[in-house]
Amino acid sequence: MSNITKIINYHAIEGIATITMMSEPINALSLNMRQALTKYLQRAIDDDQVEAVMIASKLRVFSGGADIEEFRTGSLWEKPNLPDVCLMIENCKKTVIALIEGHAMGGALELALACDYRVATSDALMGLPEIKLGLLPGAGGTQRLPRIIGLESATQMILSGDPISGHFALSCGLVDAIYENDQALMMAQQFTKNIMLGENPKRSCADLIVTHPDPKGFLEDFSAKIEPKTRNLVAPQRCLKSIEAACNLPLNEGLIKEMAGFAELLKTPQSRAGRHLFFAERECIKVPGVRNDHQPRDINKVAVIGAGTMGRGIAITFLEAGYAVTLLETTQDLLEQGLNQILKHFQRAASKGRFNSKKAEILSSNVTGTLSYRDIADADLIIEAAFENMDVKQQIFVKLDRYAKQGAILASNTSTLDLNEIAKFTSRPEDVIGFHFFSPANVMRLLEVVQGAKTAPDIIATSIKVAKKIKKLPVTVGVCFGFVGNRMLEPYFREGSRLLLEGATPKQVDNVLENFGMVMGIHAMADLAGVDVGARVRQGRRNEIAHDPTYQVVQDRLFDLGRLGQKTGHGSYLYDGRTRIEDPEIVKISTELADFHGVSRRHIDNTEILERCLFPLINEGFLILEEGIALRPSDCDLIWVNGYGFPSWRGGPMHYADEIGLNQVLERMNHYRNSLGAYGEMWFKPSPLLEKLATTDKTLAAHFDVKKEKL
Ligand code: NAD
Repeated sequence: MSNITKIINYHAIEGIATITMMSEPINALSLNMRQALTKYLQRAIDDDQVEAVMIASKLRVFSGGADIEEFRTGSLWEKPNLPDVCLMIENCKKTVIALIEGHAMGGALELALACDYRVATSDALMGLPEIKLGLLPGAGGTQRLPRIIGLESATQMILSGDPISGHFALSCGLVDAIYENDQALMMAQQFTKNIMLGENPKRSCADLIVTHPDPKGFLEDFSAKIEPKTRNLVAPQRCLKSIEAACNLPLNEGLIKEMAGFAELLKTPQSRAGRHLFFAERECIKVPGVRNDHQPRDINKVAVIGAGTMGRGIAITFLEAGYAVTLLETTQDLLEQGLNQILKHFQRAASKGRFNSKKAEILSSNVTGTLSYRDIADADLIIEAAFENMDVKQQIFVKLDRYAKQGAILASNTSTLDLNEIAKFTSRPEDVIGFHFFSPANVMRLLEVVQGAKTAPDIIATSIKVAKKIKKLPVTVGVCFGFVGNRMLEPYFREGSRLLLEGATPKQVDNVLENFGMVMGIHAMADLAGVDVGARVRQGRRNEIAHDPTYQVVQDRLFDLGRLGQKTGHGSYLYDGRTRIEDPEIVKISTELADFHGVSRRHIDNTEILERCLFPLINEGFLILEEGIALRPSDCDLIWVNGYGFPSWRGGPMHYADEIGLNQVLERMNHYRNSLGAYGEMWFKPSPLLEKLATTDKTLAAHFDVKKEKL
């Protein structure tokens, strides 16, 4: 417990002891902090001059909660653990008050719930996000919160994992008062003095019961309501069970049940997956060669070239983050169409209550349109989102080189073209970068930041900073066809299409994948994105895929027939609005093509469908890692979870491979390589890295030196 004075300050005056946490960056409740808290709490208890204790923070956050690093090392159980600290607060004979400024998340809110009173600043955010890590709040959250704010609000908070703000916290009784930031400490001290003058300065949760006319009925209804979205998850039902205990048992017994539930969940693959992704998000912003002293460039003015699907979404993203945006198009008509759609987006958002009409007006007024490169010459960041065609990109980047100011970042949203070629159209390839947004760009969180051969490190640093500001998740990748996400998508789609030739139907393939947890199956996804999108990409890659005459032939036939997916009302399915309807025509088309290509049709079982779609995708991930296109397996996972609907509770494809065992992946790749004849030989060759790790019994995470959990 060395140096605890560096993480906590203790100060007693006029009968109030203030324990101030100050452990950068977020006052994590690690062992050191827990020891310090209990030590100073004891000091306050032992000091006869002290009548009340206030727990506060010197940082801009109250506390981010548990130190998740301890989940790896196992020291979360070391005494005093968080439930011990909470009990000590609750059993303290003196009144304890939490002053919450900024965030109080997870364990931090649980600590505050054990206090007699809570006061907060109006901008405070309080939440129990444990469910997002496949866990339940294990330090009293499921027992104390329903007692304090009532069953319905508590269930909503625990099951959503979303934080609530200071004002809402006041209205539901989570906090007893809110203050403005500059007066918070003074007002909290005054609040404490008033409490001390009152008749009952102590207020233990143990004396409270959950009041609700029909807790069992409410929890059953709640469970039924969330079932469709949480079908595959274990944590939600375990949370509900724990909340039920709060309704039926005294606090001390409920706490024991809660702890058992927490310990049980901690061991599940889903919680491992949740923690894997949690750490993955913290790792992905570390890019070799980009150092802290690479000062990010200032980005104030943004320009977007092309007002199509992506350009509009990108413009909206930057506008919502407070940037001024200039949109450039080729004709006045297209420009006006683009600007109008942006305007309509903000009007719709305002009518749905996402922001008030004043804000919608301000955001809309921050976008201007132009047909001239002169008007974007002063932009700090220019993002090209024009047609996916090298000649078009060339025209644009030659002009950007001529007009853009020195130091401007020149970004392309290309999804498949060679960024290094694009960079060569300028005399400043070090300023060129890929910003691969996903559609709809203003909704999807993922941003593949594509680092070209010559991209300067400070541009990467700037991109990561900007990405955070526009609320995106930046994953830095290298240049290759499709970068990381779309390159892994290629074998996945290839198998999805080939399985139709061999006898499966789109519905069978999609059902298997959706039951596995994918947000959408391959064929539904292709129909949504547009069958033409993939077909055009293949047209540009004929040489690379010529050795396989069956390569996505069903999809190519759909394209020729004008069955472009949802937008034309038919693709792999027929559509009634957005509802998919099976179309027997697809079996006919598949059978004809199978006959033509000499592919024999058979019954294909669900296991084969799953393995043939997933394992080549995972194998491609291994190749990408070997080539250094992705920096780490967890980056591939983030990309697939955030950009392609891979179930987060499985942790992403590479984590999933580690979970089921690399020898299993290798064995099944070899099985299909041997059993599918020439086709198997062509596409099921395991990557050397997969072979090496599987035969040495090493996980991919261990190979990339990811710290292993000790639990
Ligand atoms: P789109 O066809 O909807 O829009 C392209 C727009 O660019 C059109 O409005 C067109 O008029 C304009 N344009 C064409 N040439 C131009 C030029 N020389 N100067 C200015 N504007 C020009 O296409 P999109 O789907 O928005 O795709 C744009 C880019 O984003 C492509 O590179 C594509 O690969 C990439 N991308 C698309 C998606 C997607 O799902 N649509 C996802 C990721 C990346």
